[in-house]
Amino acid sequence: MLFTKHTTHSAEETHSLGKIFGQSLSVGTIVAFFGDLGAGKTTFIRGLVEGICSIDVRAVCSPTFTFLNTYKGDKIVFHFDLYRLPREEEFLAAGFDEYFDAGGICCVEWAEKIRSLLPLHTFQVNFSYLGEEIRQIEIMQGLQ
Ligand code: ADP
Ligand code: MG
Repeated sequence: MLFTKHTTHSAEETHSLGKIFGQSLSVGTIVAFFGDLGAGKTTFIRGLVEGICSIDVRAVCSPTFTFLNTYKGDKIVFHFDLYRLPREEEFLAAGFDEYFDAGGICCVEWAEKIRSLLPLHTFQVNFSYLGEEIRQIEIMQGLQ
């Protein structure tokens, strides 16, 4: 099992880590993000989108009110933010599970909201706040 643990000391460092990680991902990959508000999930995903799609990432924001943003470049990234999802059933009712196998890479913020729907091969990325500018980021291949 792949497991790496990183400590970043700035948003830029987290962005770079996301970019390098993104460059290693192939189509069909799902990445589940865990961690509190402000822990750095969206910052990491901006880097990831840059690494995968080679596009300007200033446009990447948390899709808190829409649940899903799509970024198209060399490959496609589907970016979910499920902070406001009431229940798993709403995810299924919207047909969002079909994106898991839609020819792109899926990033899911607040993945705990749909824990039982995530395939076992999903990557898990855990964020912890260690200080104002310090974050611990654990990347695992497979759900724990
Ligand atoms: P989340 O999506 O987890 O709610 P964001 O990425 O939107 O978090 O916000 C993280 C905030 O923390 C940003 O304002 C960012 O500038 C700041 N920050 C400070 N240090 C770091 C770090 N090492 N990694 C990521 N973000 C950091
Ligand atoms: Mg976010």
